[in-house]
Amino acid sequence: MSRLLIIGCGGVAQVAIAKCCQNSDVFTEICIASRTKSKCDDVAAKLKDTTKTKITTAQIDAEDVPALTALIKEYKPDAVLNVALPYQDLTIMDACLEAGVHYIDTANYEPEDTDDPAWRKIYEARCKEAGFSAYFDYSWQWAYEDKFKNAGLTALLGTGFDPGVTSVFAAYAKKHYFDTIDTIDILDCNGGDHGYAFATNFNPEINLREVSAPGSYWEDGHWVEIPAMSIKREYNFDQVGMKDMYLLHHEEIEALAKNMPEVKRIRFFMTFGQSYLDHMRCLEDVGMLSTTPIKFQGQEIVPIQFLKALLPDPATLGPRTKGKTNIGCIFTGKKDGKEKKIYIYNVCDHEECYKEVGSQAISYTTGVPAMIGSMMVVSGLWNKPGVFTTDQFDPDPYMEALNKWGLPWVVEENPVLVD
Ligand code: NDP
Repeated sequence: MSRLLIIGCGGVAQVAIAKCCQNSDVFTEICIASRTKSKCDDVAAKLKDTTKTKITTAQIDAEDVPALTALIKEYKPDAVLNVALPYQDLTIMDACLEAGVHYIDTANYEPEDTDDPAWRKIYEARCKEAGFSAYFDYSWQWAYEDKFKNAGLTALLGTGFDPGVTSVFAAYAKKHYFDTIDTIDILDCNGGDHGYAFATNFNPEINLREVSAPGSYWEDGHWVEIPAMSIKREYNFDQVGMKDMYLLHHEEIEALAKNMPEVKRIRFFMTFGQSYLDHMRCLEDVGMLSTTPIKFQGQEIVPIQFLKALLPDPATLGPRTKGKTNIGCIFTGKKDGKEKKIYIYNVCDHEECYKEVGSQAISYTTGVPAMIGSMMVVSGLWNKPGVFTTDQFDPDPYMEALNKWGLPWVVEENPVLVD
């Protein structure tokens, strides 16, 4: 019995909403609030006759803290699930504190305007101090620790697949398989094909920023940064086959390095096809990935936002995407004095996801954990005051929920390692 306020109504949100509606015993009422209310109304109309969950909708600009606070106070949810964009993380956290409700999201804060001088000054100091240059990092949200603790509220950060499930896999490996973990390799493979020469699987602006940035990994207590796409490996993924993958910076590395300090090396790899990389390099070379506004025919435009308007909307890829994703983590370490290695992963089929909820597997593998993380918080299973990532709670109920709600996982002993 709970009420959830869901902010955002894009690709990921639509899966999270559909899954909450399947789980009506827990989510008795939801309110979908987003910038464009008509999208919320369309989704509500589609689901209304299929669920016992009572759905309402609202228009909101999540960057307007007083308006959002008023909406939260009026709707009185048990928690707010932020599946809008990382740009809104801090304003939504502020409104949750103001209104006294728990906060949940799937991606850590980054600013929309990376030229903002106040943000830039802090960013440049962080790059020097921490040793990685991604625009996103946890420092902004970890800074809310005392505020959430003092208010007796939980902020659960990053409950998508990666970050999210990958960190739960790490907590599960540590709890059940290892005395100490030495290395973690997170492998994100999308073997899906949507038939377009170039499209991104989730918000193009966020996706292209992430992929075109320098890569980095954690080793022996510090970050090692490398030029974008300069470390490439091949891996033979179960049910997908052999794929090229590239080392990227990824946010869960930062949280895992902090919360599991004994781990000597943490890396993240994502698969990309040659066509995707060629397009991305070309777009970057001509300046289309820039976030700096330019004047065009008397109007100011941001190149990457203009590009977003040209690319297919990720929420429309569902009916065209075939193939599978395989996302998981390879752990090495010691148990009872002996060397041990395991691989925990999920395989998800794009077409099956579309049949079930009308979305492709990237939105599905993010939206399902967003619902599960919300369920953990509202049911009180993952409920402690402060700001936490998903590796900081008991992984068992979450792992059980993954099996139940559409993302079953396997544990493979003695997997092939990545060199
Ligand atoms: P979309 O661009 O499809 O959807 C974003 C939604 O947020 C849209 O409905 C948009 O409204 C709404 N929105 C944007 N700005 C505001 C605002 N100021 N106020 C209210 N609503 C707003 O994004 P995705 O669904 O692809 O991604 C959602 C989130 O999931 C992102 O944070 C992304 O980084 C994260 N993600 C996490 C993953 C993980 O594994 N952890 C993987 C993939 C994504 P409008 O309709 O008006 O545009």
